[in-house]
Amino acid sequence: MTMSTANPIDNPARSPATPASTAPFTAPFREFSFDLPQPLPGGELRCTACSTRVRIPEPTPDGAARAQLRARARELLASRSAVLMAHYYVDADVQDLAIETQGFVGDSLELARYGQEHPARNLVVCGVRFMGETAKILSPDKEVWMPDPHADCSLDMGCPPETFSRFCDAHPNRTVVVYANTSAAVKARADWVVTSSCAVHVVRHLADQGHKILWAPDCHLGSYVQRQTGADMLVWGGSCIVHREFDAASVRSLLQRREGARLLAHPESPADVLEQADMVGSTTAILRAPATLDAALYVVATDGGLLHRLRQAYPGKEFVGAPTLGVHGGRCPWMSANGLASLVRVLESRASAIEVDPGLAERARIPIERMLAFTRPAP
Ligand code: SF4
Repeated sequence: MTMSTANPIDNPARSPATPASTAPFTAPFREFSFDLPQPLPGGELRCTACSTRVRIPEPTPDGAARAQLRARARELLASRSAVLMAHYYVDADVQDLAIETQGFVGDSLELARYGQEHPARNLVVCGVRFMGETAKILSPDKEVWMPDPHADCSLDMGCPPETFSRFCDAHPNRTVVVYANTSAAVKARADWVVTSSCAVHVVRHLADQGHKILWAPDCHLGSYVQRQTGADMLVWGGSCIVHREFDAASVRSLLQRREGARLLAHPESPADVLEQADMVGSTTAILRAPATLDAALYVVATDGGLLHRLRQAYPGKEFVGAPTLGVHGGRCPWMSANGLASLVRVLESRASAIEVDPGLAERARIPIERMLAFTRPAP
């Protein structure tokens, strides 16, 4: 079951060779809605739909304060025998520090594999909670810290384990495939865990073997995977509050105004945005795309944190975030909770290490390991 992690970078939606899918697509739940987070006293936001508290991102310090924080974080990482792992969506300073300190910046699949294989005694995961949980599940003997252990994700929040479990019970003939953006409890109920970089490959593999799929939680990614594979999929109705806000009409207008611009889109975006894209893929696939697409300007439909890495990787090219109609402006409020100051705080205190119930971790580890084995590059 070994395969390459390379992603196709052409968008079949623009290709006349794309076969039309005739398989049934059923969305059993309405899309979950999340309202504008409301400021609370004490430096937090509250999501009015789910009451989750999110720390307001600290203003980026400049000049000497910033240099001091970076130096202190470097010193603490060394003294705590910890390696820094950052997702592409977090603060640019934190990404740069991860590279400088021989840590890692990557997508959720790469972070999962990196944390498991790295020899460091302790891991600092800069991202959202499910990433810290996954690191702990794969490395139970390591301490896992996060700058904000409460950094949530609307996909995780929109897929409560009990409801999801009942949904699975109602469809026992389906193979359960869940996106990595879920709690350990939801993963423990799944047959497979996937990320956006391998979802199409895994579902196609399962469909070829005659499996019918129960998919959760992202309905836009699920719908995209269904269109690509033609698989018989029952799709949960969750969504990412950042990606679902990219606006197709505004994107079209921008592409018309900036002739020659290419659209790179993450498949958590709505279908009418993906239809216009020159490349649909994971964050890593988006990062690689400008190396092969010949354009001076790229419009990027994913969290704005990735623009930092794109600009570093391709200094001669221009990158702008895709326009949104929503309130989050292309930035994830939970990813934004990972800053230099909160990183230093957690390294100083070593408080709030991520814990996962060992029984749950043991069950959740099975579908995660299945994904890692499936995507492991051939020797
Ligand atoms: S960007 Fe979307 S999918 Fe990623 S952590 Fe934030 S809410 Fe979740």
